[in-house]
This record gives sequence, structure tokens and C-alpha cells, in this order.
Amino acid sequence: MNLNFCSLSSGSSGNCYYLGNGSQGILIDAGISATSIRKFLRGLGIPMETIMGILVTHNHSDHIKGLEVLTRRNGIPAFTTAAIWKSVLTPRSRITSDCIREITAGTGFSIAGFEIEAFPVCHDAPETVGYRISHEGRNITIATDLGHICETSAPYIRSANLLVIESNYDEEMLAGGPYPYFLKSRIKSDHGHLSNHQASSFLADIINDNLRVICLAHLSINNNTPDKVLQTLHRTLSERGISLNGNQKITILNRNSPSEMIWLE
Ligand SMILES: [Zn+2]
Ligand SMILES: [Zn+2]
Repeated sequence: MNLNFCSLSSGSSGNCYYLGNGSQGILIDAGISATSIRKFLRGLGIPMETIMGILVTHNHSDHIKGLEVLTRRNGIPAFTTAAIWKSVLTPRSRITSDCIREITAGTGFSIAGFEIEAFPVCHDAPETVGYRISHEGRNITIATDLGHICETSAPYIRSANLLVIESNYDEEMLAGGPYPYFLKSRIKSDHGHLSNHQASSFLADIINDNLRVICLAHLSINNNTPDKVLQTLHRTLSERGISLNGNQKITILNRNSPSEMIWLE
């Protein structure tokens, strides 16, 4: 089993995640510059020619900033639904047309031996999706921008062996912070972002021995800290009498630099 995962960047300044199978890989979102993506991959010893596709979750710039250049300069095909393409392909967009691949949420497709399915999540962009990616019996689920966990997304998240899930803001920091009222309301809404408490309490509901790696993602720079995320999660798990087994790992993804490479057995 050569399944390996690395976050290149995670948060409102840009999201990009790498998943490899030992010889080829895919990216999930390209929300930092193409230059940074190339630099980070080079640092990890991953040649650009081994990137066989980019999965796009939605049209917010922190998820598509480098997409245009990666399709134009590197010819990497990008995959997402018709509704998301419609929102991404503005008149100013110069994404190479022969790199556009249209997929349907709930219908499987494959890239480089990965079996992939997009699933709808609740977020304030046209038809935002998460992805479940399967390889040799292992599931990796990525759900980075969602205001709450709805019935359609929960099964995809529950079945993960490696889960990337948003833990965006600490409720008290957001309430006492500098954001205007409308922005606070947007973040807290069912179509905004998940709080530490929401993420922790959902994780406490679903945690099981098959969930080997939990990556807490998309932390707000102004309304959260890694310590707050971990404190909330550990407190919630202990209140529910849940302890992690020795094989389970929790990691907080860095905002502006690659995480460690995580190998999934
Ligand atoms: Zn985002
Ligand atoms: Zn978003």
C-alpha cells in the first residue's frame, strides 16, 4: 500500500491537497498559485508530470487560484460538476478548454487508479462538493468548506479511513472578533463554515477504528488557533468517554506550508 497524502496549503488563503499512489497522484483544489504548487511538490520530490488530474470543490478563489495556470502551462485536466464549471468559467477565465472534464455528483469516475465520487455539501458557492477517493480498499474523504454536515454528505465522511475536515473557527473568537455582523452571520450559517465545536462533535459521533487519520483543515487566521482546535476536540472526546486507539492520528493542517507526508496503511 503506497497511498500517501499531503496538504500543500489549507485555509482561507488557499487550499491544495495532494494524494499519491506511489507512482501517480492527483490534486484536490488548486487554491494557491501554480508557482507555489510546483515549488511545494518539488520540495516533496513529486514531479509535476505525475499529477494526473485536479478535483475542484467550488469556485471560491481560495480553491481555484492556480487552476488556470496549471491547465494552461502543465496541461493537467481538471474535474468538477457542470454547475461548478459554470461558476468557474467566467468570461475572463482562460482555463484551457481541452483540460475541462465534467463529472456528476454521486457518479463514480477514475483517475490514475483512484476511484472517485463527488458529493454535495452545504456552502455558499454554486453546488459545492466534497470528494471521496478510494484506492485498494482505503477511503480518503475531503470536505473542507461546509456550513453543516447534511444527510447527503455524512455517509461519505463516515466511511473515511483518512478524513480531511474543516474546523474553521472558534465560536468565542468569532463572536468577539473584528468581523462585521454580516460576515460573522455568513460564516456561522448553515452554508458557511464548520466551527471547532461542530467539527469535534461530529467527529465524536462518527469516530471508529477504521478512521485512522483525521486532518483538521481550513482554520481561520483571525478566528481560530491550532491550540483551540485541539482543545475543543480533546475536550469533546473526553466528555463523551472516547479515547483514541494507538493507531489513530490527529493532525492540524498548516495554512501556508505543506504538512508532513502521511502514509495510509
Ligand atoms: Zn475555502
Ligand atoms: Zn468556500
